[in-house]
Amino acid sequence: MDFRLSNEQELFRQTVREFAEKKIAPRAREIDRNAAGIPAEIIRGMAELGLFGLTIPEQYGGSAIAGEEIVTAMLAVHEIARAELSMSLPVYYLLNLGWSYLVSRAGTEELKKEILPRVAKGEWFLGIATTESSGGSDLARIKTNGAKRDGKYFLNGEKYFVSGVEEGTQRGGGHCTLFRTGNFDDGHRALTFAYVPIQARGVSSARLHMMGRMGLSTGVIHYDGVEIPEYYRLGEENKGFYTAMQGFNAARVLVCAACTGGAERALEITRDYSTRRELFGQPLVKFEGISFEIAEDYAKLEMLKHTLLKTAWMIDQISRDANAIPRQEINTHVAICKMIAPHLGLEIAKHAMMHHGALGYSDETPLEMLFRGLMSYVVGAEGGTNVMKIIIAREFIGDVAIPY
Ligand SMILES: Cc1cc2nc3c(=O)[nH]c(=O)nc-3n(C[C@H](O)[C@H](O)[C@H](O)COP(=O)(O)OP(=O)(O)OC[C@H]3O[C@@H](n4cnc5c(N)ncnc54)[C@H](O)[C@@H]3O)c2cc1C
Repeated sequence: MDFRLSNEQELFRQTVREFAEKKIAPRAREIDRNAAGIPAEIIRGMAELGLFGLTIPEQYGGSAIAGEEIVTAMLAVHEIARAELSMSLPVYYLLNLGWSYLVSRAGTEELKKEILPRVAKGEWFLGIATTESSGGSDLARIKTNGAKRDGKYFLNGEKYFVSGVEEGTQRGGGHCTLFRTGNFDDGHRALTFAYVPIQARGVSSARLHMMGRMGLSTGVIHYDGVEIPEYYRLGEENKGFYTAMQGFNAARVLVCAACTGGAERALEITRDYSTRRELFGQPLVKFEGISFEIAEDYAKLEMLKHTLLKTAWMIDQISRDANAIPRQEINTHVAICKMIAPHLGLEIAKHAMMHHGALGYSDETPLEMLFRGLMSYVVGAEGGTNVMKIIIAREFIGDVAIPY
């Protein structure tokens, strides 16, 4: 047993940190204020470092190390999030990594050749579109219909609160989308998952105005008779719910890595500030009301990082051997991380803002951006907190704990 990262992983982490501190951190405030989105040169720089290809195999233009994809991706997302506290770029980035991981595993050869090399180059955006107005937590009630005719699916419906609608429309790419291919009464057992290009004929979108992550669009997508070929399908027909869940496991780990990266940076900012700030004749950090809170937050974050690393490692084990770790165990670990990380991150951001007094409520520090950005994951992006609790309760208590 060895809890350390390898020398290569440490070196990789250091390389990403240097790039992110130099090229991204100075522009974080601009990204948050810029409705036009993330500067193209930042995406290009990340692509030149190979950062968009971490979960994509070499034959499709990526640099995935078999059996280490998620740990490596997690290290990169953590570092990008330390530098860009609004969470716009980290989320843009992690969506690409998480959903290309899924396409690499569940996509057809034709689909992989068509989209993955462009995602690996940072040219195209790849995201996820499952949420509908009937409730993002209750995917069994998805209404978007995907009738099949002559080997094609024809989509009609609407998705809500989808990230990257403008980025996809401008740059190209699309979303892994869940739609109904069977009876409504069959719930989640009649859903199919497929890639849908956002520039396809019949797709239109509109931006919604959110409280944070201002550099990344969130919006509505309408499908009006959108035709997609069968080879865009991910996994088996009518088993899309289960295929999507594999993608969610990877994406949720990366979401948590974004939370830990942001929270780690917030802790450093508040440690440095309260060491400099003098009140009542001594540095603020000399008061235990402050130093103990920082110590507690640090300890909780360290514990979360360990569980997260173990969870990423577990997902990577099934890349090597599909039966290495029971799926149920992975689902539970992912849910534990996703239940805790956004809330802990938000708590740390809030404490750091409070240590700064009025300054913490201003845009003189990046802390309020982090607070707004993390709130997206607290309210439910990539899965609501109570949904994570249902997964955990089902594992430990059994179905008896579930009210339906
Ligand atoms: C900024 C942002 C970006 C997003 N990006 C995307 C995206 O790219 N693609 C996409 O598909 N979706 C996206 N979403 C939507 C996200 O996936 C949903 O918000 C999430 O699935 C929850 O769905 P909902 O918002 O409809 O809330 P609901 O499903 O209505 O849930 C409301 C609340 O009830 C709780 N709850 C649900 N079920 C239970 C239960 N059985 N018992 C107790 N409590 C329960 C939930 O935890 C939540 O707190 C995004 C959301 C945000 C905020």
